[in-house]
Amino acid sequence: MEQDFARILIPRDRIQARVAEMAEAITKSYGDEAREIVIVAILSGSVIFLADLIRHLPFKMKLGLMTVSRYRGAATSGGETLLKSAVDLPLENRHVLLIDDILDSGGTLRAVCEDLRKQRPADLKLAVLLRKPSKAPKDIIPDFVGFDIEDVFVVGYGLDFNSQYRNWPDIGVLRPELYA
Ligand code: 5GP
Ligand code: MG
Repeated sequence: MEQDFARILIPRDRIQARVAEMAEAITKSYGDEAREIVIVAILSGSVIFLADLIRHLPFKMKLGLMTVSRYRGAATSGGETLLKSAVDLPLENRHVLLIDDILDSGGTLRAVCEDLRKQRPADLKLAVLLRKPSKAPKDIIPDFVGFDIEDVFVVGYGLDFNSQYRNWPDIGVLRPELYA
């Protein structure tokens, strides 16, 4: 797998350190309200981030998983956002923390946030591991961001290309001929 990468953008140890820092910031932000918290994660890109992050969170939580489908292959924009499965937990009056792998054009997160707000959570916060600031929309501002990255198609640490490379522990860019 290693030979498929052109370069590593964020090595595994930096990811791990940053995820621990994010967990600390999340824990502080909920403070005494660290009750009735529901973590909602968007599959499949967030699974590795989710698993690492929530093991640093010291409060009780419920975990809901959502399937959303939007992009195909390496095309990161365009296409309809499809909410393929809803969260099977009551969200009304709960503190909801939405988790996703990457904020790119924001179409996915806009649709998901709209859907979650209909269920009247006490509040809705957003944590993303990665953000591409050159494309991120002004109306979706995450409460917690791991790393701002340049506008390149990245894989690893949960992010895929054609459903592969999710298990690679670093975040990097594939050799261009592989995207062809
Ligand atoms: P948006 O709706 O913000 O344009 O796209 C968000 C979704 O597109 C992400 O949750 C992710 O699944 C996918 N995506 C966007 N940029 C990248 C990228 O650089 N690499 C990978 N693997 N997926 C991406
Ligand atoms: Mg995604």
